[in-house]
Amino acid sequence: MTAVTPALGEHELALHDRARAVIPGGMYGHMAVTSFSAAHPQFIVSGDGCRVTDADGREYLDLMSGWGPVVLGHRHPGVTAAVIDQLGHGDCLDGASPVAVDFAELLVDTVPSADWAMFCKNGTDATTTCVTTARAATGKRKVLVARGAYHGAVPWCSLRGAGVTDEDQAHLVHYDYNDLSSAEAAAAEAGDDLAAILVCPMRHDVKRDQELVDPAFARGLRALADRTGSVLIVDDVRCGFRLDLGGSWEPLGVRPDLTAWSKAIANGQALGAVTGIEALRDAARSIYVTGSFWYAAVPLAAGLATLTELRKGRALPDMVRTGQRLRDGLAQQAVAHGFEIRQTGPVQMPMLSFAGDEGFRLVTAWAEAAGERGVYLHPWHNWFLSAAHTDADIDDILDRTNDAFAALG
Ligand code: PMP
Repeated sequence: MTAVTPALGEHELALHDRARAVIPGGMYGHMAVTSFSAAHPQFIVSGDGCRVTDADGREYLDLMSGWGPVVLGHRHPGVTAAVIDQLGHGDCLDGASPVAVDFAELLVDTVPSADWAMFCKNGTDATTTCVTTARAATGKRKVLVARGAYHGAVPWCSLRGAGVTDEDQAHLVHYDYNDLSSAEAAAAEAGDDLAAILVCPMRHDVKRDQELVDPAFARGLRALADRTGSVLIVDDVRCGFRLDLGGSWEPLGVRPDLTAWSKAIANGQALGAVTGIEALRDAARSIYVTGSFWYAAVPLAAGLATLTELRKGRALPDMVRTGQRLRDGLAQQAVAHGFEIRQTGPVQMPMLSFAGDEGFRLVTAWAEAAGERGVYLHPWHNWFLSAAHTDADIDDILDRTNDAFAALG
């Protein structure tokens, strides 16, 4: 039996009190932990490999990997060395560091659909830059987006209504993921004002099972973009560098015109990127996009080190192996404890739900029981494996999740 620590620690709770006084809601966005669990700490003071430690010194086996960015593990030695080395030269300088060119060259060499690359800070910058580039290239305004898909937290694509005007999203036309006829209908609605088709490599909306892309849908969107003269944008922010280094639709043979990257690109340093095809180079050059921190050299050095490590070829197969081990183990445990669960998405990006689980009550109770046993995971957002997870770590996680199933009674 694994140890159970039901109450959050005193330092954690003190931080909640202090945060409530000076941060709206005590925390915001996806880091507002009380919106999904009463048993996971909101504040994490350190990370090492696939473990994180809270303010009370409690250690958790980490299945969120910083919500995606940490693809090689927390404080990966090679990336940390690159960060420290670059810090020794400077970070935010008066001009872009040469490392921007080094990393752009490496991306263009790694991603078959990339003839050029631009850097920014996060995924929202990257998707926004893609849309702006597409509009500049076509001179058109409408963008097709899948209903419920997340592309960032700014008004043009926010999924939440507060503070967002209808005008902000006036040029979005919605289709249903994996439903080509709905995308064709949306394109018809956009008519001759269609700039872009924006799509994630799979359906990974929160609070629903993940859904892999139907290859015929991916090919159909490619053909639709070609037929309408619009730009196919793949939002690879969440899946990028975990499924296929060349881009998540590369195994399908479907190449986007523009790709938005972030999360895993620099193993946790703040970096996003846009890559694109030759035909869109001039449009990318014509738009004005920038930011005070977009050229910071430390994240670029981290990105260079991360992709160099990923290209050695072990990390992705390792995540597939450990992810499969986790999936198999959870499946056996659910059967043994008499629960019907679904596990969806690629094994490197797991998601677990319980059949007939109204209001996510069962999965929340299970996730909280796992939290009390030292596993950091989420009840209704996908998890992320990292290359730092070993088979032994997965077995350790499984010991604890087994007890979490048992705790559901
Ligand atoms: N697109 C997708 C598919 C994402 O998952 C996210 C982040 N969860 C974003 C865009 C926005 O990225 P960021 O939070 O780095 O701005």
